[in-house]
Amino acid sequence: MPLTLKDPSLLRSSCYIDGEWIAADAGATITVTNPATGETVGTVPKMGQAETRRAIEAANAAWPAWRSLTAGARSKILRRWFELLLEHQDDLAVLMTSEQGKSLTEAKGEIGYAASFIEWFAEEGKRIYGDVIPGHQPDKRIVVTKEPIGVCAAITPWNFPSAMITRKAGPALAAGCTMVLKPASQTPLSALALAVLAERAGIPKGVFSVVTGSAGEIGGELTANPIVRKLTFTGSTEIGIKLAAQCAPTIKKLSLELGGNAPFIVFDDADLDAAVEGALASKYRNSGQTCVCANRLLVQDGVYDAFAEKLAAAVAKLKVGNGLEAGTTQGPLIDMNAVEKVEEHIADALSKGARLMTGGKRHALGHTFFEPTILADVTPAMKVAKEETFGPVAPLFRFKDEAEAIQMANDTEFGLAAYFYAAGMNRVWRVSAALEYGIVGINTGIISTEVAPFGGVKSSGLGREGSKYGIEDYLEIKYLCMGGV
Ligand code: ADP
Repeated sequence: MPLTLKDPSLLRSSCYIDGEWIAADAGATITVTNPATGETVGTVPKMGQAETRRAIEAANAAWPAWRSLTAGARSKILRRWFELLLEHQDDLAVLMTSEQGKSLTEAKGEIGYAASFIEWFAEEGKRIYGDVIPGHQPDKRIVVTKEPIGVCAAITPWNFPSAMITRKAGPALAAGCTMVLKPASQTPLSALALAVLAERAGIPKGVFSVVTGSAGEIGGELTANPIVRKLTFTGSTEIGIKLAAQCAPTIKKLSLELGGNAPFIVFDDADLDAAVEGALASKYRNSGQTCVCANRLLVQDGVYDAFAEKLAAAVAKLKVGNGLEAGTTQGPLIDMNAVEKVEEHIADALSKGARLMTGGKRHALGHTFFEPTILADVTPAMKVAKEETFGPVAPLFRFKDEAEAIQMANDTEFGLAAYFYAAGMNRVWRVSAALEYGIVGINTGIISTEVAPFGGVKSSGLGREGSKYGIEDYLEIKYLCMGGV
């Protein structure tokens, strides 16, 4: 079934480099498929090193003029980009659901979320302040200024095809940097549609380019080219480690949003209905394919059975289907690799004594649809305890007391998001302090917003995105020491 968009020009089959829409040098293409139907949604160029280098050189050439604009002038252009995203919210959502699978409601929500980063940083760019520091000698004056880092490279994943781009491009462009983006090959159409709107908003040529194609070749050039001063990446820890190593010889600044293994702790004083609602939102959003999805549900002994029952009743109401159909809450998984990983985690858990409460297998709809699943009696020895499942599987662990919950929650190399439900104020403060995570959701399962700093510790990454802190990642500090005053 062909895509029907109100503005068909948002669907592109060429890349946007230096203000031009172009094909790959060799004419090669990548096919983008709809995970709900297996149908082709579109094709995009399969580019490599040469095209990437041209985009980087264009970004470098565009940088002096872009950084010389006042923050207010950049802000006006970004504001227009924000408005265009919202004006085309419906089309952008249809495009996203078609290539990514998430429900149309979630896709619309993501476009609003993606737009919010552009709006926020259009404003925040006007508030990049420096310091005046009292001199250390009578004739000295010390001033600290902040400057844009320069050409930035961005590599983004398929789970949030638009928002992971704008939360990098928003602060980068607002700060006066330029950017070359490589989107995930599963979801390049959303990225190219953003570029269409960037062009319409008046973002000058070369300031924001999108290169689709070979991850290894494009990533290789983005990380090796000395013109690129910063890499910002969202994706797996495995690839993040590789990219960091590739950036080491040219000492690039790094922002890495990597994997998570989020604990979701339910204490015996928690409001169980609220905890179930939070778990449902945190676990099954985007069919479990977010880096802040609850990966381990740790439930205290006294409320374990009651929580499990209530959660199973809530999960029974989820509706698996094509994201474009009304009422769908759970779209398909992104591809067969994702399905196989989920199956492997479930099989491993069952072989080690876990109990299947609901789901557990591929959905009757076929393709990459998977049944929302709950596993009980899960233990730390199972794969689901250590690895990010990235699918609709809720494993329930049992704990006795607060100390054990904290020990289990922190027993991972990751440190992105953690959640807990509790009523006692003292416990809330104690547990918040003890969790080794960049983000803690307390009595809530939803923590993402453009106004707050998103990011992890340990193997979950470096840097923060969103909020006043998010723009710092695109700025260098310059210290001016004036003598003989
Ligand atoms: P995911 O598991 O979410 O697909 P990945 O880390 O594999 O996460 O991919 C995230 C992004 O990194 C995608 O845009 C992908 O194309 C890109 N990528 C994957 N491998 C490499 C690589 N070797 N070099 C550069 N980019 C890569």
